Amino acid sequence: MLPPWLEKASLGSIETLGLYIHVPFCRRACHYCDFYFTPRASFMEAYTEALLCEIDHYAVLLEAFPIETVFFGGGTPSWLPLPLWDKIFRRLEQLPTYTPKEVTIEANPEDITPESLSFWLRRGVTRLSVGIQSFYPQVLHTLGRFHDPEIARRAINYLYKSGFTTWSADLIFGVPGQRSEHVVSDIEFLLSYNIPHLSAYGLTIEEKTVLYKKLRLGRFAPVEEETYAQSYLSIHEVLGKAGFTWYEISNWARPGHESQHNWRYWQRKPYIGLGPSAHSYLPEVRWANTRSIKTYLSQLESGIYPVAYWEALSLDDLRMELWITQFRTKLGLSSMQIRQHIGEKADYVFGLLDSAVQRGWLKRINDTYHLTPQGALLSDRLILEVESHLEKVISA
Ligand code: SF4
Repeated sequence: MLPPWLEKASLGSIETLGLYIHVPFCRRACHYCDFYFTPRASFMEAYTEALLCEIDHYAVLLEAFPIETVFFGGGTPSWLPLPLWDKIFRRLEQLPTYTPKEVTIEANPEDITPESLSFWLRRGVTRLSVGIQSFYPQVLHTLGRFHDPEIARRAINYLYKSGFTTWSADLIFGVPGQRSEHVVSDIEFLLSYNIPHLSAYGLTIEEKTVLYKKLRLGRFAPVEEETYAQSYLSIHEVLGKAGFTWYEISNWARPGHESQHNWRYWQRKPYIGLGPSAHSYLPEVRWANTRSIKTYLSQLESGIYPVAYWEALSLDDLRMELWITQFRTKLGLSSMQIRQHIGEKADYVFGLLDSAVQRGWLKRINDTYHLTPQGALLSDRLILEVESHLEKVISA
């Protein structure tokens, strides 16, 4: 018998699946991070067994549709020992539908060695995404990262020589003490290794993080809006000149190197998430696993799906999803799509969007609204404005 969230899903409309696997281990907490992880490597073996068990739970579904993309995210997936990776890949390869076009592993620089790279290549990994964040010692120190600039540079050098044709680095901008020149020089270093893909995220200081506490104690001042904006716009400039396409608010790629897995999220294509705190979406249902590794292990051991929450999506949810997914990408949103989702009242939203065009936050090309880099800096505010406007006109 299917669990209720699968009963509710329209399985008939699914063509392919994405598979996300959350690997919840980190050596220690970075100062800005509020993701779920455990530093207890002693759980890794039990986690792997539980994950294989969770694959069995979803086997009917996983064996029914081609698995187009796989993404191992974390946490620090690369910290998992290679024999455990071997177990996971062996189980995945048993699925007749396991013929992914793209398999990504998120890796931290300290785990990138010629041995780990050649192992992952042999096991069909096609894409490495490395959490570099910065090459500046002071910035890495503020962020509380485990690696230093030397380890980060060594990782890039190994990757460059490894045979991976697609790889990516994550950078962070807007860190206290960091200037836009630092970010530009980080990118120039990566460009000298012919990097095919780059993600750059603006630092947000979440509650319950070390940075938040330090900020409250006045140990540093938050970055000024102007410095933050300057860094982001410099990234656009440098990568634009280097021939990269900006395809999502925080992502740039050379032609043919966009992340296929992330495109699935932004185009709302179905994916199954496995591992503690992983999220899943099938039309039109979403659910999330328990965050706690202990609960995850014990529920799977008792033969229970480790699901903490699920919901069938309402029309309002679907409308909002469109703004927080596709609108963030280079696809933008066309007037026709907006009309399809809102109906006659769409005219009220067009007024708001046209005024954003006037302010330089959006461009209107062939009847489609696209964020500009200036608009991307304000995208959360813009989306909130659209949403609250919509709530008012729809309930009127
Ligand atoms: S390695 Fe990544 S997931 Fe782990 S604590 Fe640092 S930022 Fe968070």
